[in-house]
Amino acid sequence: MKIYKAYKFRLYPTNDQRGFINRTLGCKRFVYNYYLNYLKDNNGINRFDLHKDLPKLKEENEFLKEVDSTVLCSAVDDLCKAFNDYYAKRKGYPKFKSKFSKQSYRTSCVRSRYKEKEYSNIEVDLLTRNIKLPKLGKVKIRGFRNEERIEGKIVNATISRDATNKYYVSVLVEEDIIIEKIIPTTIVGIDLGIKDLVVTSDGIKYGNDKVLMKFEKRLKRLQRKLSRQVKGSKNYLKTKEKIARVHAKIKNYRKHYLNDIANEIVDDHDIIVTESLLVKDMFKEKVKAFNKSLSDASLSKLCSLIEWKSKIKGKYYYKINTYYPSSQICSHCGYKNSKLKDLSIREYDCPKCGSHNDRDINASLNILLEGLKLHYNLVSLV
Ligand SMILES: [Zn+2]
Repeated sequence: MKIYKAYKFRLYPTNDQRGFINRTLGCKRFVYNYYLNYLKDNNGINRFDLHKDLPKLKEENEFLKEVDSTVLCSAVDDLCKAFNDYYAKRKGYPKFKSKFSKQSYRTSCVRSRYKEKEYSNIEVDLLTRNIKLPKLGKVKIRGFRNEERIEGKIVNATISRDATNKYYVSVLVEEDIIIEKIIPTTIVGIDLGIKDLVVTSDGIKYGNDKVLMKFEKRLKRLQRKLSRQVKGSKNYLKTKEKIARVHAKIKNYRKHYLNDIANEIVDDHDIIVTESLLVKDMFKEKVKAFNKSLSDASLSKLCSLIEWKSKIKGKYYYKINTYYPSSQICSHCGYKNSKLKDLSIREYDCPKCGSHNDRDINASLNILLEGLKLHYNLVSLV
């Protein structure tokens, strides 16, 4: 099976390299904004027309010739994609790109052979902590300290600059691996995000992390501060930059946190079962989460991480797709207790068998049982 992995590094360009990256981003932005403006007055033009027009634009603007021509093509592709999203009603009308937002450009990896040796225009050296990039040469990197080298074939590299003026490179690698499905001996059911983010049938709860909550509080405070300041003033811009920095921190922290949870779950179990998020949203009790959209995004990210990690480790991941009142059924005796629709009941004694149940752990046990049936294709006995 072919798998793709992205390795993201912090990039430390020299002043000259930084200048070149900024000029490349500037050219890409110029092409994007030029054609966005052009399309306003010329309806019904398709992407082939734009690609055909690109050499003319380059003739008229000498500075565009300095940068990689594939970057300029990708600006046209990005714009076409933005229009497709707009026509499909996924996003609003494309906006002009500003100098201050996050920007990136991608360069493809090209290989050549000379005197029995293979050369490549993108190379990562984790021992000396350098990356070779087209037109930039060697640039210092940080990240993946515990690995000696990148396995697999490099496909491309995306160089980006975020709103706080930090530089990154994301290297896409293709790897050919053989995966043998393992014979499962352990199984876990997972209840997703009512009070905690994750509750497993082993009784482990992963909460909405405290550090994350702290960042979010700080974010809210800064946003309140921003709303009081004069738009465009020096202090306003300062606060705006602080907000961007906290946003970046939250994003980073959440990424690592979700990764850790997914790793722990997949490493410790062979069959992993969750409810499908769609079903969960439609039927499950509505809860006012601390930040609902945030926790929804985290949950879907977490599920895709678990799915991906199970796949490459030869394990099994199931999503329960049918409506199943997992939190109302006693996992010991199967008695359905509709009083449990009341969300404030976190623990209770089953009126039929008397066993003491924790609401979320009981739900995850039921999810485990449903997964077990699914895996062994058993007919429901209940
Ligand atoms: Zn019971």
